Amino acid sequence: MGNFKRVNYPKKSFATCFKTTFHKSMSETKKVLLTGDRPTGPLHLGHYVGSLQNRVQLQHTCEQFVMIADMQALTDYFERPEHVVKNVAEVVKDYLAVGIDPQKTTIFIQSQIPELCELTMLLLNLVTTSRLQRNPTIKNEIQLRGFEESIPAGFLCYPVSQAADITLFRATHVPAGEDQAPMIEQTNELVRRFNYTYKTDCLREVELMLSKTPRLIGIDGNAKASKSLGNAIFLSDSAETVHEKVFSMYTDPNHIRVSDPGKTEGNVVFAYLDAFDPDKDEVESLKAQYRKGGLGDMTLKRRLDEILQTLLKPVREKRAAVTDKEALEIAIEGTKKMKTIAQNTMEAVRNAVGIVYRGG
Ligand code: ATP
Ligand code: MG
Repeated sequence: MGNFKRVNYPKKSFATCFKTTFHKSMSETKKVLLTGDRPTGPLHLGHYVGSLQNRVQLQHTCEQFVMIADMQALTDYFERPEHVVKNVAEVVKDYLAVGIDPQKTTIFIQSQIPELCELTMLLLNLVTTSRLQRNPTIKNEIQLRGFEESIPAGFLCYPVSQAADITLFRATHVPAGEDQAPMIEQTNELVRRFNYTYKTDCLREVELMLSKTPRLIGIDGNAKASKSLGNAIFLSDSAETVHEKVFSMYTDPNHIRVSDPGKTEGNVVFAYLDAFDPDKDEVESLKAQYRKGGLGDMTLKRRLDEILQTLLKPVREKRAAVTDKEALEIAIEGTKKMKTIAQNTMEAVRNAVGIVYRGG
């Protein structure tokens, strides 16, 4: 799709395209946050520092919607729908365990809002397949999943469905990890293209909110801890599993004796201390000592294990107190509220495109 000249057409404003009353979340002043997670497995420490921690804080001051992206999960788990479905309750339990409060945050299930598919179809007309193939996150994920030979169309197009997720609920901000930057860029391109094509301001551009640790590396030293790579410490891991994972972490292979100078860059234990140790000055002094020589991996691992055990114990306990049924009820209740917003925005979208037919 080539460049197009910007012309100032009279705009069909969101309010004029929108016949029913504004939902509270539609207020133009309050930040509206939309994030989500794929129910492809339980959540891990990467989610915690990349997004969950921010969500827990921001829910007090912003309108917050959190989506369980089961349709998006099916784009690469299409042969294992039962795995995706089973993990919906697991993800909700993780949310509650870290302190997401369903009174303040609306948790909902993507597949139960068909308006998302409708908006996705309209947005798909405004992007080319080559633009989708250039998306760096998609490129990387295609490689990871071995999809190079034949890419499922649904997978290639999931950034468009993600743009629909964000814009249908009129989100202004997305608190997510670094891997989401290309998705936000693509969403904003689609918003501009849609508003320009249909001479409207119906869809809103959105901003990515990065945390202090926008990308947590895997315990194997891989660039990203991820459910699919199985290289993460899960929020639901037992104390023993956390201990084992910490003690199996990759450090510096050339740091053989305690007295040897060691590398801190690319050293998983230090990456996790940077993310989780509340005493930043002490971490800096440990790094200096490690570089010089005289600090053993075991001492560092014991420190990290203690920090993570303290963080995860209450999370594990809270998680165990919620049943699958309770978790699903929360998500089903949240979905009802989101459905109303979805229907209202879709009405505005249909009006903007002009696909409104009245007989008689
Ligand atoms: P999958 O492997 O199935 O894609 P994932 O581990 O990548 O799972 P997602 O559900 O895709 O997790 O990501 C949900 C959110 O968590 C996104 O906002 C993403 O940016 C963030 N996130 C995931 N992994 C990390 C990580 N290692 N560091 C920081 N943020 C992360
Ligand atoms: Mg992912």
